Amino acid sequence: MAEPVPDGGRDFAGYRGRPPLVRWPGGAQLALSLVVNVEEGAELSIGMGDEINESVYEVVERVEGVRDLCMESHYEYGTRAGWPRIRALLKDLGVAATLNANGRALALSPWIAEEAVADGHEISAHGWRWERHVHMDEATERTVIARTVAAIEAAAGAPPVGWHTRSATSSNTRRLLIEHGGFLYDSNAYNDDLPYLVEGRTGQAHVVLPYAFDTNDMRFANGGGFIFEEDFARYCIAAFDRLYAEGAQAPRMMSVGLHLRIIGRPGRIGGLERFLAHAAGRPGVWFCRRDAIARAWRAGLGLPAWTPQAPGFRP
Ligand SMILES: [Zn+2]
Repeated sequence: MAEPVPDGGRDFAGYRGRPPLVRWPGGAQLALSLVVNVEEGAELSIGMGDEINESVYEVVERVEGVRDLCMESHYEYGTRAGWPRIRALLKDLGVAATLNANGRALALSPWIAEEAVADGHEISAHGWRWERHVHMDEATERTVIARTVAAIEAAAGAPPVGWHTRSATSSNTRRLLIEHGGFLYDSNAYNDDLPYLVEGRTGQAHVVLPYAFDTNDMRFANGGGFIFEEDFARYCIAAFDRLYAEGAQAPRMMSVGLHLRIIGRPGRIGGLERFLAHAAGRPGVWFCRRDAIARAWRAGLGLPAWTPQAPGFRP
């Protein structure tokens, strides 16, 4: 007899190569989701009243106890110069994206939400500050979720229906999002090329849309491997070509992670442009917001249309 091994609630099987044959709108072969992270001003900063400074950028160097004006300035590049450049490119190509925004970032730069909504992009929630939730207690995390939703609603005119925590969530995060009632989906997973369902409240399934750290401009960070715009384009095109080919047999989705201060640099934006030109050159590519993917997945499985549940948290 093999020894039983506790699985910790993890799911190693997924669809086991036989996913439900959900058809994307228009019979598309691939759902392509661009995720534009808006984190500037939400990075930890003593200048913003936080307990420590952010230490991750082009160089990894923590300034302790006092404001880090160098780091603050680097992040400001994202909203000042990166966003207008990214916005113009998406507009030129007529591509819809999901802005994955920290509440504090949009509270500081609300015009980004207004411009994104005007351009037809989705605004999804990335937490209040740009930080992990892994060590938050439940009450704190509940407050953080509510505060993030309120800030995004104030800036964007509508609450977010999607959520993605920076890196490690707590063990409560997904349950709290489901209990909140306002979330159609979360992206706190990296374990598939397809959406999947988890059990929600009162019969409403909750959609998980896995995100990706490889097809992501974060690889331009120190040691990440991307130097030139060509590196980003080549890697994303390789992933796209494979998923697109597989999409002829079964549904596939691709997530591309972008950051205002990273891909928005003049030496890098061409990589996104080249990748998007490649994708747009293939028939049957659905450039889509993540809320649309989640709704299409539900519809494809025969579930009723999603509606927000009673607002706020259950006692
Ligand atoms: Zn992020």
